[in-house]
Formats: sequence, C-alpha cells, structure tokens
Amino acid sequence: MAGSKSIEIRNLSLSFGELKVLEQLDLDIFDGEFLVLLGASGCGKSTLLNCIAGLLDISDGQIFIKGKNVTWEEPKDRGIGMVFQSYALYPQMSVEGNLSFGLKNAGMAKTEIAERVARAASILQIEPLLKRKPSQLSGGQRQRVAIGRALVREVDVFLFDEPLSNLDAKLRAELRVEIKRLHQRLNNTMIYVTHDQIEALTLADRIAIMRGGQVQQLDTPHAIYNHPANKYVAGFIGSPG
Ligand code: ADP
Ligand code: MG
Repeated sequence: MAGSKSIEIRNLSLSFGELKVLEQLDLDIFDGEFLVLLGASGCGKSTLLNCIAGLLDISDGQIFIKGKNVTWEEPKDRGIGMVFQSYALYPQMSVEGNLSFGLKNAGMAKTEIAERVARAASILQIEPLLKRKPSQLSGGQRQRVAIGRALVREVDVFLFDEPLSNLDAKLRAELRVEIKRLHQRLNNTMIYVTHDQIEALTLADRIAIMRGGQVQQLDTPHAIYNHPANKYVAGFIGSPG
C-alpha cells in the first residue's frame, strides 16, 4: 500500500517495572489505512494503542503522527480519537451530553459543538437517541455512542481497542459492517485492536500480528493467510500454513 505516512513508530519500548511489554517495535501506518493489531491476550496490543494515544509514558523510542514527533505531546494534542472496549459513557448525562462533553471541556463554541454532534449522530444513525441516558440504551446503541464520542473530534486518526468484544455475535457482525462503512466514508486512519481473526480478516487493509510485544508479520489479510511468516502466525490466523 503506497501513500504518505499517518503514524510512524520507531524503536518503541515500554516496560511496567521489570515486565518488558513492547520491545524495539517499529510500525508504519499509512494515511487512510485500516490497520488491525491482532494477537493473543497479553501480547501488548492495548499497551501499543495507549502509547500512540499518549496515555502511557514510553521507556524508549519515538512516535510520529503526520510527520510530527508527538512522543511527549499530551493526548489531547495528538489529533486522535479513541474508542475503548468498555463503553465508559457518563451515566448521568444524556447521549447528547456524552457526545459534547469533551468538546465543551476543550472550550469549543456552542454552535460548532451542536453541528459536530448533529453530524456524528447522523452518520451513526443515533439521532432519535440524543435525549436518552446510557441506561436506556442497548449494548449496540451504547457502543455507537462511544464511537460517536470519537467521531465528534473530527480527527484524522481513530484508535479502537476491542470495541465489539463485549457484544453478542449478531451485534458484533452488524457493527463490524458499520465500522467498515464508517471507514469508507471518512477515509481516515484507523488502528483497530482485536484478538478475533474474523474481525481482522474482514476489516483490515493490513494486519499486524503481534506476539510478545513485537510485530511478527505485517501484511494484507490475503498475504498473511496465504503466506504466513511462521508457524505461530499460521496457527493464529487459522491458515493451512
Ligand atoms: P493485550 O491488549 O494484547 O491483551 P496488554 O497491552 O493489555 O495486552 O498487556 C500486555 C502485558 O502488560 C500483559 O502482561 C499485562 O498484564 C501487562 N500490563 C498491562 N497494563 C499494565 C499495567 N498498567 N501495569 C502492569 N502491567 C500491565
Ligand atoms: Mg487489550
């Protein structure tokens, strides 16, 4: 995949005390790319995503977003939106309140906030839900609102950390299609963490297979499935090898 780089990760290492979680990891992600980080539980996917988001102090290395070194930038200055596995909506606020909260905190003008909330609600088809509280929503609706909170930021890069793993299989399949459509519509850079091979194979432009804090293989779903780099990758992706 050609194109300009959206995110460059150079020699990234991170330890929690004695535990080395990421080790000299390099990864380039292109503008507009849907990149899936796939790997078993505990391999460092969330840690890597949190490093890109600026939620963890790294031990060594550098992170560039749109060519700018953001290694020591605050999360809010990195131009990214993040969707977590747990919906983490504010229970006391309406959907509208949840969508606008971050923008209000950032001091954005009311009219601009209203426009952005309307745009996001329209894209995600949650307009009828704006006055409801999270407790009055289904799991799928809540996760749509959680995506909406990233959407209203209108940034170039979205990070998803297993956003569908708390949902049942049917909803998971539906929302997978919606996330794909969202990407086709917005055409922004998405980094999507999952341990689910099917999600990875259906969503990704490219998949990075992670193991033990390193990238084992980075390629298109087709290439990884048909030409896995090693036995581990073959086993994990479920390819005949
Ligand atoms: P994944 O998202 O791939 O399941 P994580 O990035 O959450 O993996 O975790 C990678 C490793 O780091 C695991 O061994 C986990 O127990 C450990 N870990 C994650 N967060 C912390 C933390 N805040 N403090 C200590 N260890 C952590
Ligand atoms: Mg995780």
